Amino acid sequence: MPKIKRIDHIALVVEDIDEALHFWRDALGLELDHLQDVPREKSAIAFLPVGGSEIELVQPTSPDSGIAKYLEKRGPGMHHICLEVDDISGMLDQLRAKGVQLIHEKAVNGENGKKYAFIHPRAAFGALVELYELP
Ligand code: ZN
Repeated sequence: MPKIKRIDHIALVVEDIDEALHFWRDALGLELDHLQDVPREKSAIAFLPVGGSEIELVQPTSPDSGIAKYLEKRGPGMHHICLEVDDISGMLDQLRAKGVQLIHEKAVNGENGKKYAFIHPRAAFGALVELYELP
């Protein structure tokens, strides 16, 4: 049976990563691991490790990106929580069997051999949940 292992990251939408770092890095004292441009998603991402997990700041880099639309509609704040699972395909099968609504029916191949899929927030009581299987 597929198993959830830990929280991989919590993602927050921000208007401006540099400004958000005044809080997350400078005031809280978290370390900025790296900044990354994600042209495919028209966004920029900052990672701040916390224990074995990470805070991920996501900033839109184009007004027509999905993240920009989300920001316009909902404002900055929580975007999604990502759980690491040992067998993402098995977990998607299990969720489907339990009638859970998925955004991705199959795991998507991400960078560095990661596989990911999103569960619909309607199925998760308002929270957008991402699943990760790490290589
Ligand atoms: Zn994520």
